[in-house]
Amino acid sequence: MGVQRGNLSGGLFTVSRTASPHITMDELAEITQHLLRSSPDALVVIDDRGLIRFANDTVTDLFGYRPDQLLGQSVEVFVPERFRARHGRHVSGFVADPRSREMGARIADLYARRADGSEFAAGIRLAPFRIGEKLFVAAAIRDASERQRINDALVAAREEAERANRAKSRFLATASHDLRQPLQTIKLLNAAMTRLSGDAEISSLLKHQEQAIESTTRLLNALLDISRLESGAIEPQRVAVFLPKMLDELRAEFDSIARVRALKLEVSALPFSVTTDRVLFYQLLQNLVGNALKYTDEGSVSVDCRMENGALLIVVRDTGIGIPPDKLERIFDEYYQVDTHGTKRLGVGLGLAIVKEVARLLDFKVRITSTIGRSTEVTISIPAAQIAAAVPEQLAAVVSQREPSAPPRTRVLLVEDNDGVRMATELFLKLEGLEVRSAASFAEAEALLPTLGWGDIIVADYHLDSSHTGIEVLLKARAVHDRNVPGIVLSGDLPTLVRTIQQPIPSSKFLSKPVDTDALLQAIKELMAASREQGDKLRA
Ligand code: ADP
Repeated sequence: MGVQRGNLSGGLFTVSRTASPHITMDELAEITQHLLRSSPDALVVIDDRGLIRFANDTVTDLFGYRPDQLLGQSVEVFVPERFRARHGRHVSGFVADPRSREMGARIADLYARRADGSEFAAGIRLAPFRIGEKLFVAAAIRDASERQRINDALVAAREEAERANRAKSRFLATASHDLRQPLQTIKLLNAAMTRLSGDAEISSLLKHQEQAIESTTRLLNALLDISRLESGAIEPQRVAVFLPKMLDELRAEFDSIARVRALKLEVSALPFSVTTDRVLFYQLLQNLVGNALKYTDEGSVSVDCRMENGALLIVVRDTGIGIPPDKLERIFDEYYQVDTHGTKRLGVGLGLAIVKEVARLLDFKVRITSTIGRSTEVTISIPAAQIAAAVPEQLAAVVSQREPSAPPRTRVLLVEDNDGVRMATELFLKLEGLEVRSAASFAEAEALLPTLGWGDIIVADYHLDSSHTGIEVLLKARAVHDRNVPGIVLSGDLPTLVRTIQQPIPSSKFLSKPVDTDALLQAIKELMAASREQGDKLRA
C-alpha cells in the first residue's frame, strides 16, 4: 500500500503500513484515539435517531458525565429543558437534510446543560458524515462562557458609544441652533454699523468683525449639518431633481465668489432628472464647488457631467493647490484639514465629512484624485436607477429663465418675535433704503396685512410663537389679497423646513438663519422684480 498524506494540526504527516520513518496504520489509529480522548473540545457522535454513539473524556470536564453514561442516551441530555422542543425540530431537520450542511461544519452559540442541571454558553461545531448508508453527526462542544461575556461586553460598549454619539449630535444640534439667533443679531448690527460708519478706521474694524462673524456662521452651519446627518434624523425625501436647473442655481450662487477670486467657473449639465433629495444633493455640490473655489488661486473651476456604464458622473475639477496623495484618504474625516499652504483658516474641516455622509444617504459614490500644486478632481457617481431623461417642459422652463431686473421702491413687512433680531433687521433694511414696518407677533402681522399694497414684501421668521409660523403669515396675506404677495421666510433649520413644505409656494424664498445680509437683499430684489412683472401683466 502506498503512502497517504493528511493534514494534522497544520503539519503534514505520512502513513505507511510498513516501516519508519512513516507511522503505521495501527499507530495512526492510536494517535486518533488519543486525540479524540484528550481533545480540548467535548466530542460526541450521534446517529440519525439523535442517540449518542461516542463521547470522549472531555465530556466529563464539561458536562460532568462519564463517557459510558452517555452512550445510547438522547443528545437532549445536553439541552436545557426549555429548549428541548425547539432542539428536537432542529435535529429532525438536520437529519432529514444533512446535505446542505455536509460541506462545512456549523457553529452555533447556545446553552448546554450539565449533569447537575447548571447551564453554560456553548459553542458547538457540527460535522455530518456517513459510514456506508448510515448518517452520523460529530459535534465538538466547548465552553463559550468567556466568549459570550466578551461579546456581551462588546455589545454593551458599542451601545454605550452609540448613545454617547447620539447625545453629542443632539447637543451639537441644539447648541448650534440656539446660537443662531444671537449671531443673527450681531450680523445684522454689524452690517448696519458698516453702512452708518463714515470713519475709515471704524470701517476697517467692522470689516474684521464681519469676517469673524462669517467664520462663526460657517462653523455653526457645518456643525448643525453634520450633527443632523450623523444623528440619523435625516430621511432623504426623493423627488425628481432636474439637473440643469440645479446646476444653474449652483452657478448663480458661486458666480460672484468666482469673480471676486478672478477664477473662471464653468458649469455644464446633461438633460437628466435625478431622483434624489433636492436639499442634500445641492448641499453636496455646494461643498464641493465651495472647496474647489476656496483652494484654487488661479485658473478655473468646472462642473461637468457625463455618463459612464449607465451611471451619471458629476465631476468637479479645479486647477488649485491639490492634495498630497497620503492625505487623500483622510480628508473625508471630520475636522481633518491638510493645511499645506496655510489654508486651514479657510474652513472648519467639515465640508467633505458632510459630502461623505450625504453621499452615503443618497447612494452616491465619491471619488477624488489630485495632483499636488496642479489640480483636484472630485467625481460623484449617481447610479443608473436614480436617473431619468428630462421631459420637454423641464427643458423649456430652463430656457425661459431670465435675469431679474432692477428693484422697484420696496416696502417690507417684517415679522419677527425676537426683539434683538427684529430691531437689527429693521435697522439694516432701513439703511438699505427700504421702508420697513415691523410686527412682533402673528397677531400684529395679521392686523397689518390689509394695508399691504403692490411693491410690498413680507420678511418673516419661521418660528413666530408656539402656534404660528412665517409661512402662515404669507398664506394669510395671500388669502386677504387674493394674489401671490411675495415673501421671504427665515429659518434656523432650513433643510427641515424645506422638507415640510408639501407644495411649492410661488413667489417666496426661504433663507437660512443667521441670514447672509447680501443674500437677503438679493432675495428681496429678485422677488420684487418678479412681482412687478406679475403686476404689469395683470394691469395690462
Ligand atoms: P475645510 O472646511 O477645511 O475646507 P473640508 O472637509 O471641506 O474642510 O476639506 C478637508 C480638507 O481637504 C481641506 O482642509 C483641504 O485641505 C482639503 N481640500 C478639500 N477640497 C480641496 C480642493 N478642491 N483642493 C485642495 N484641497 C482640498
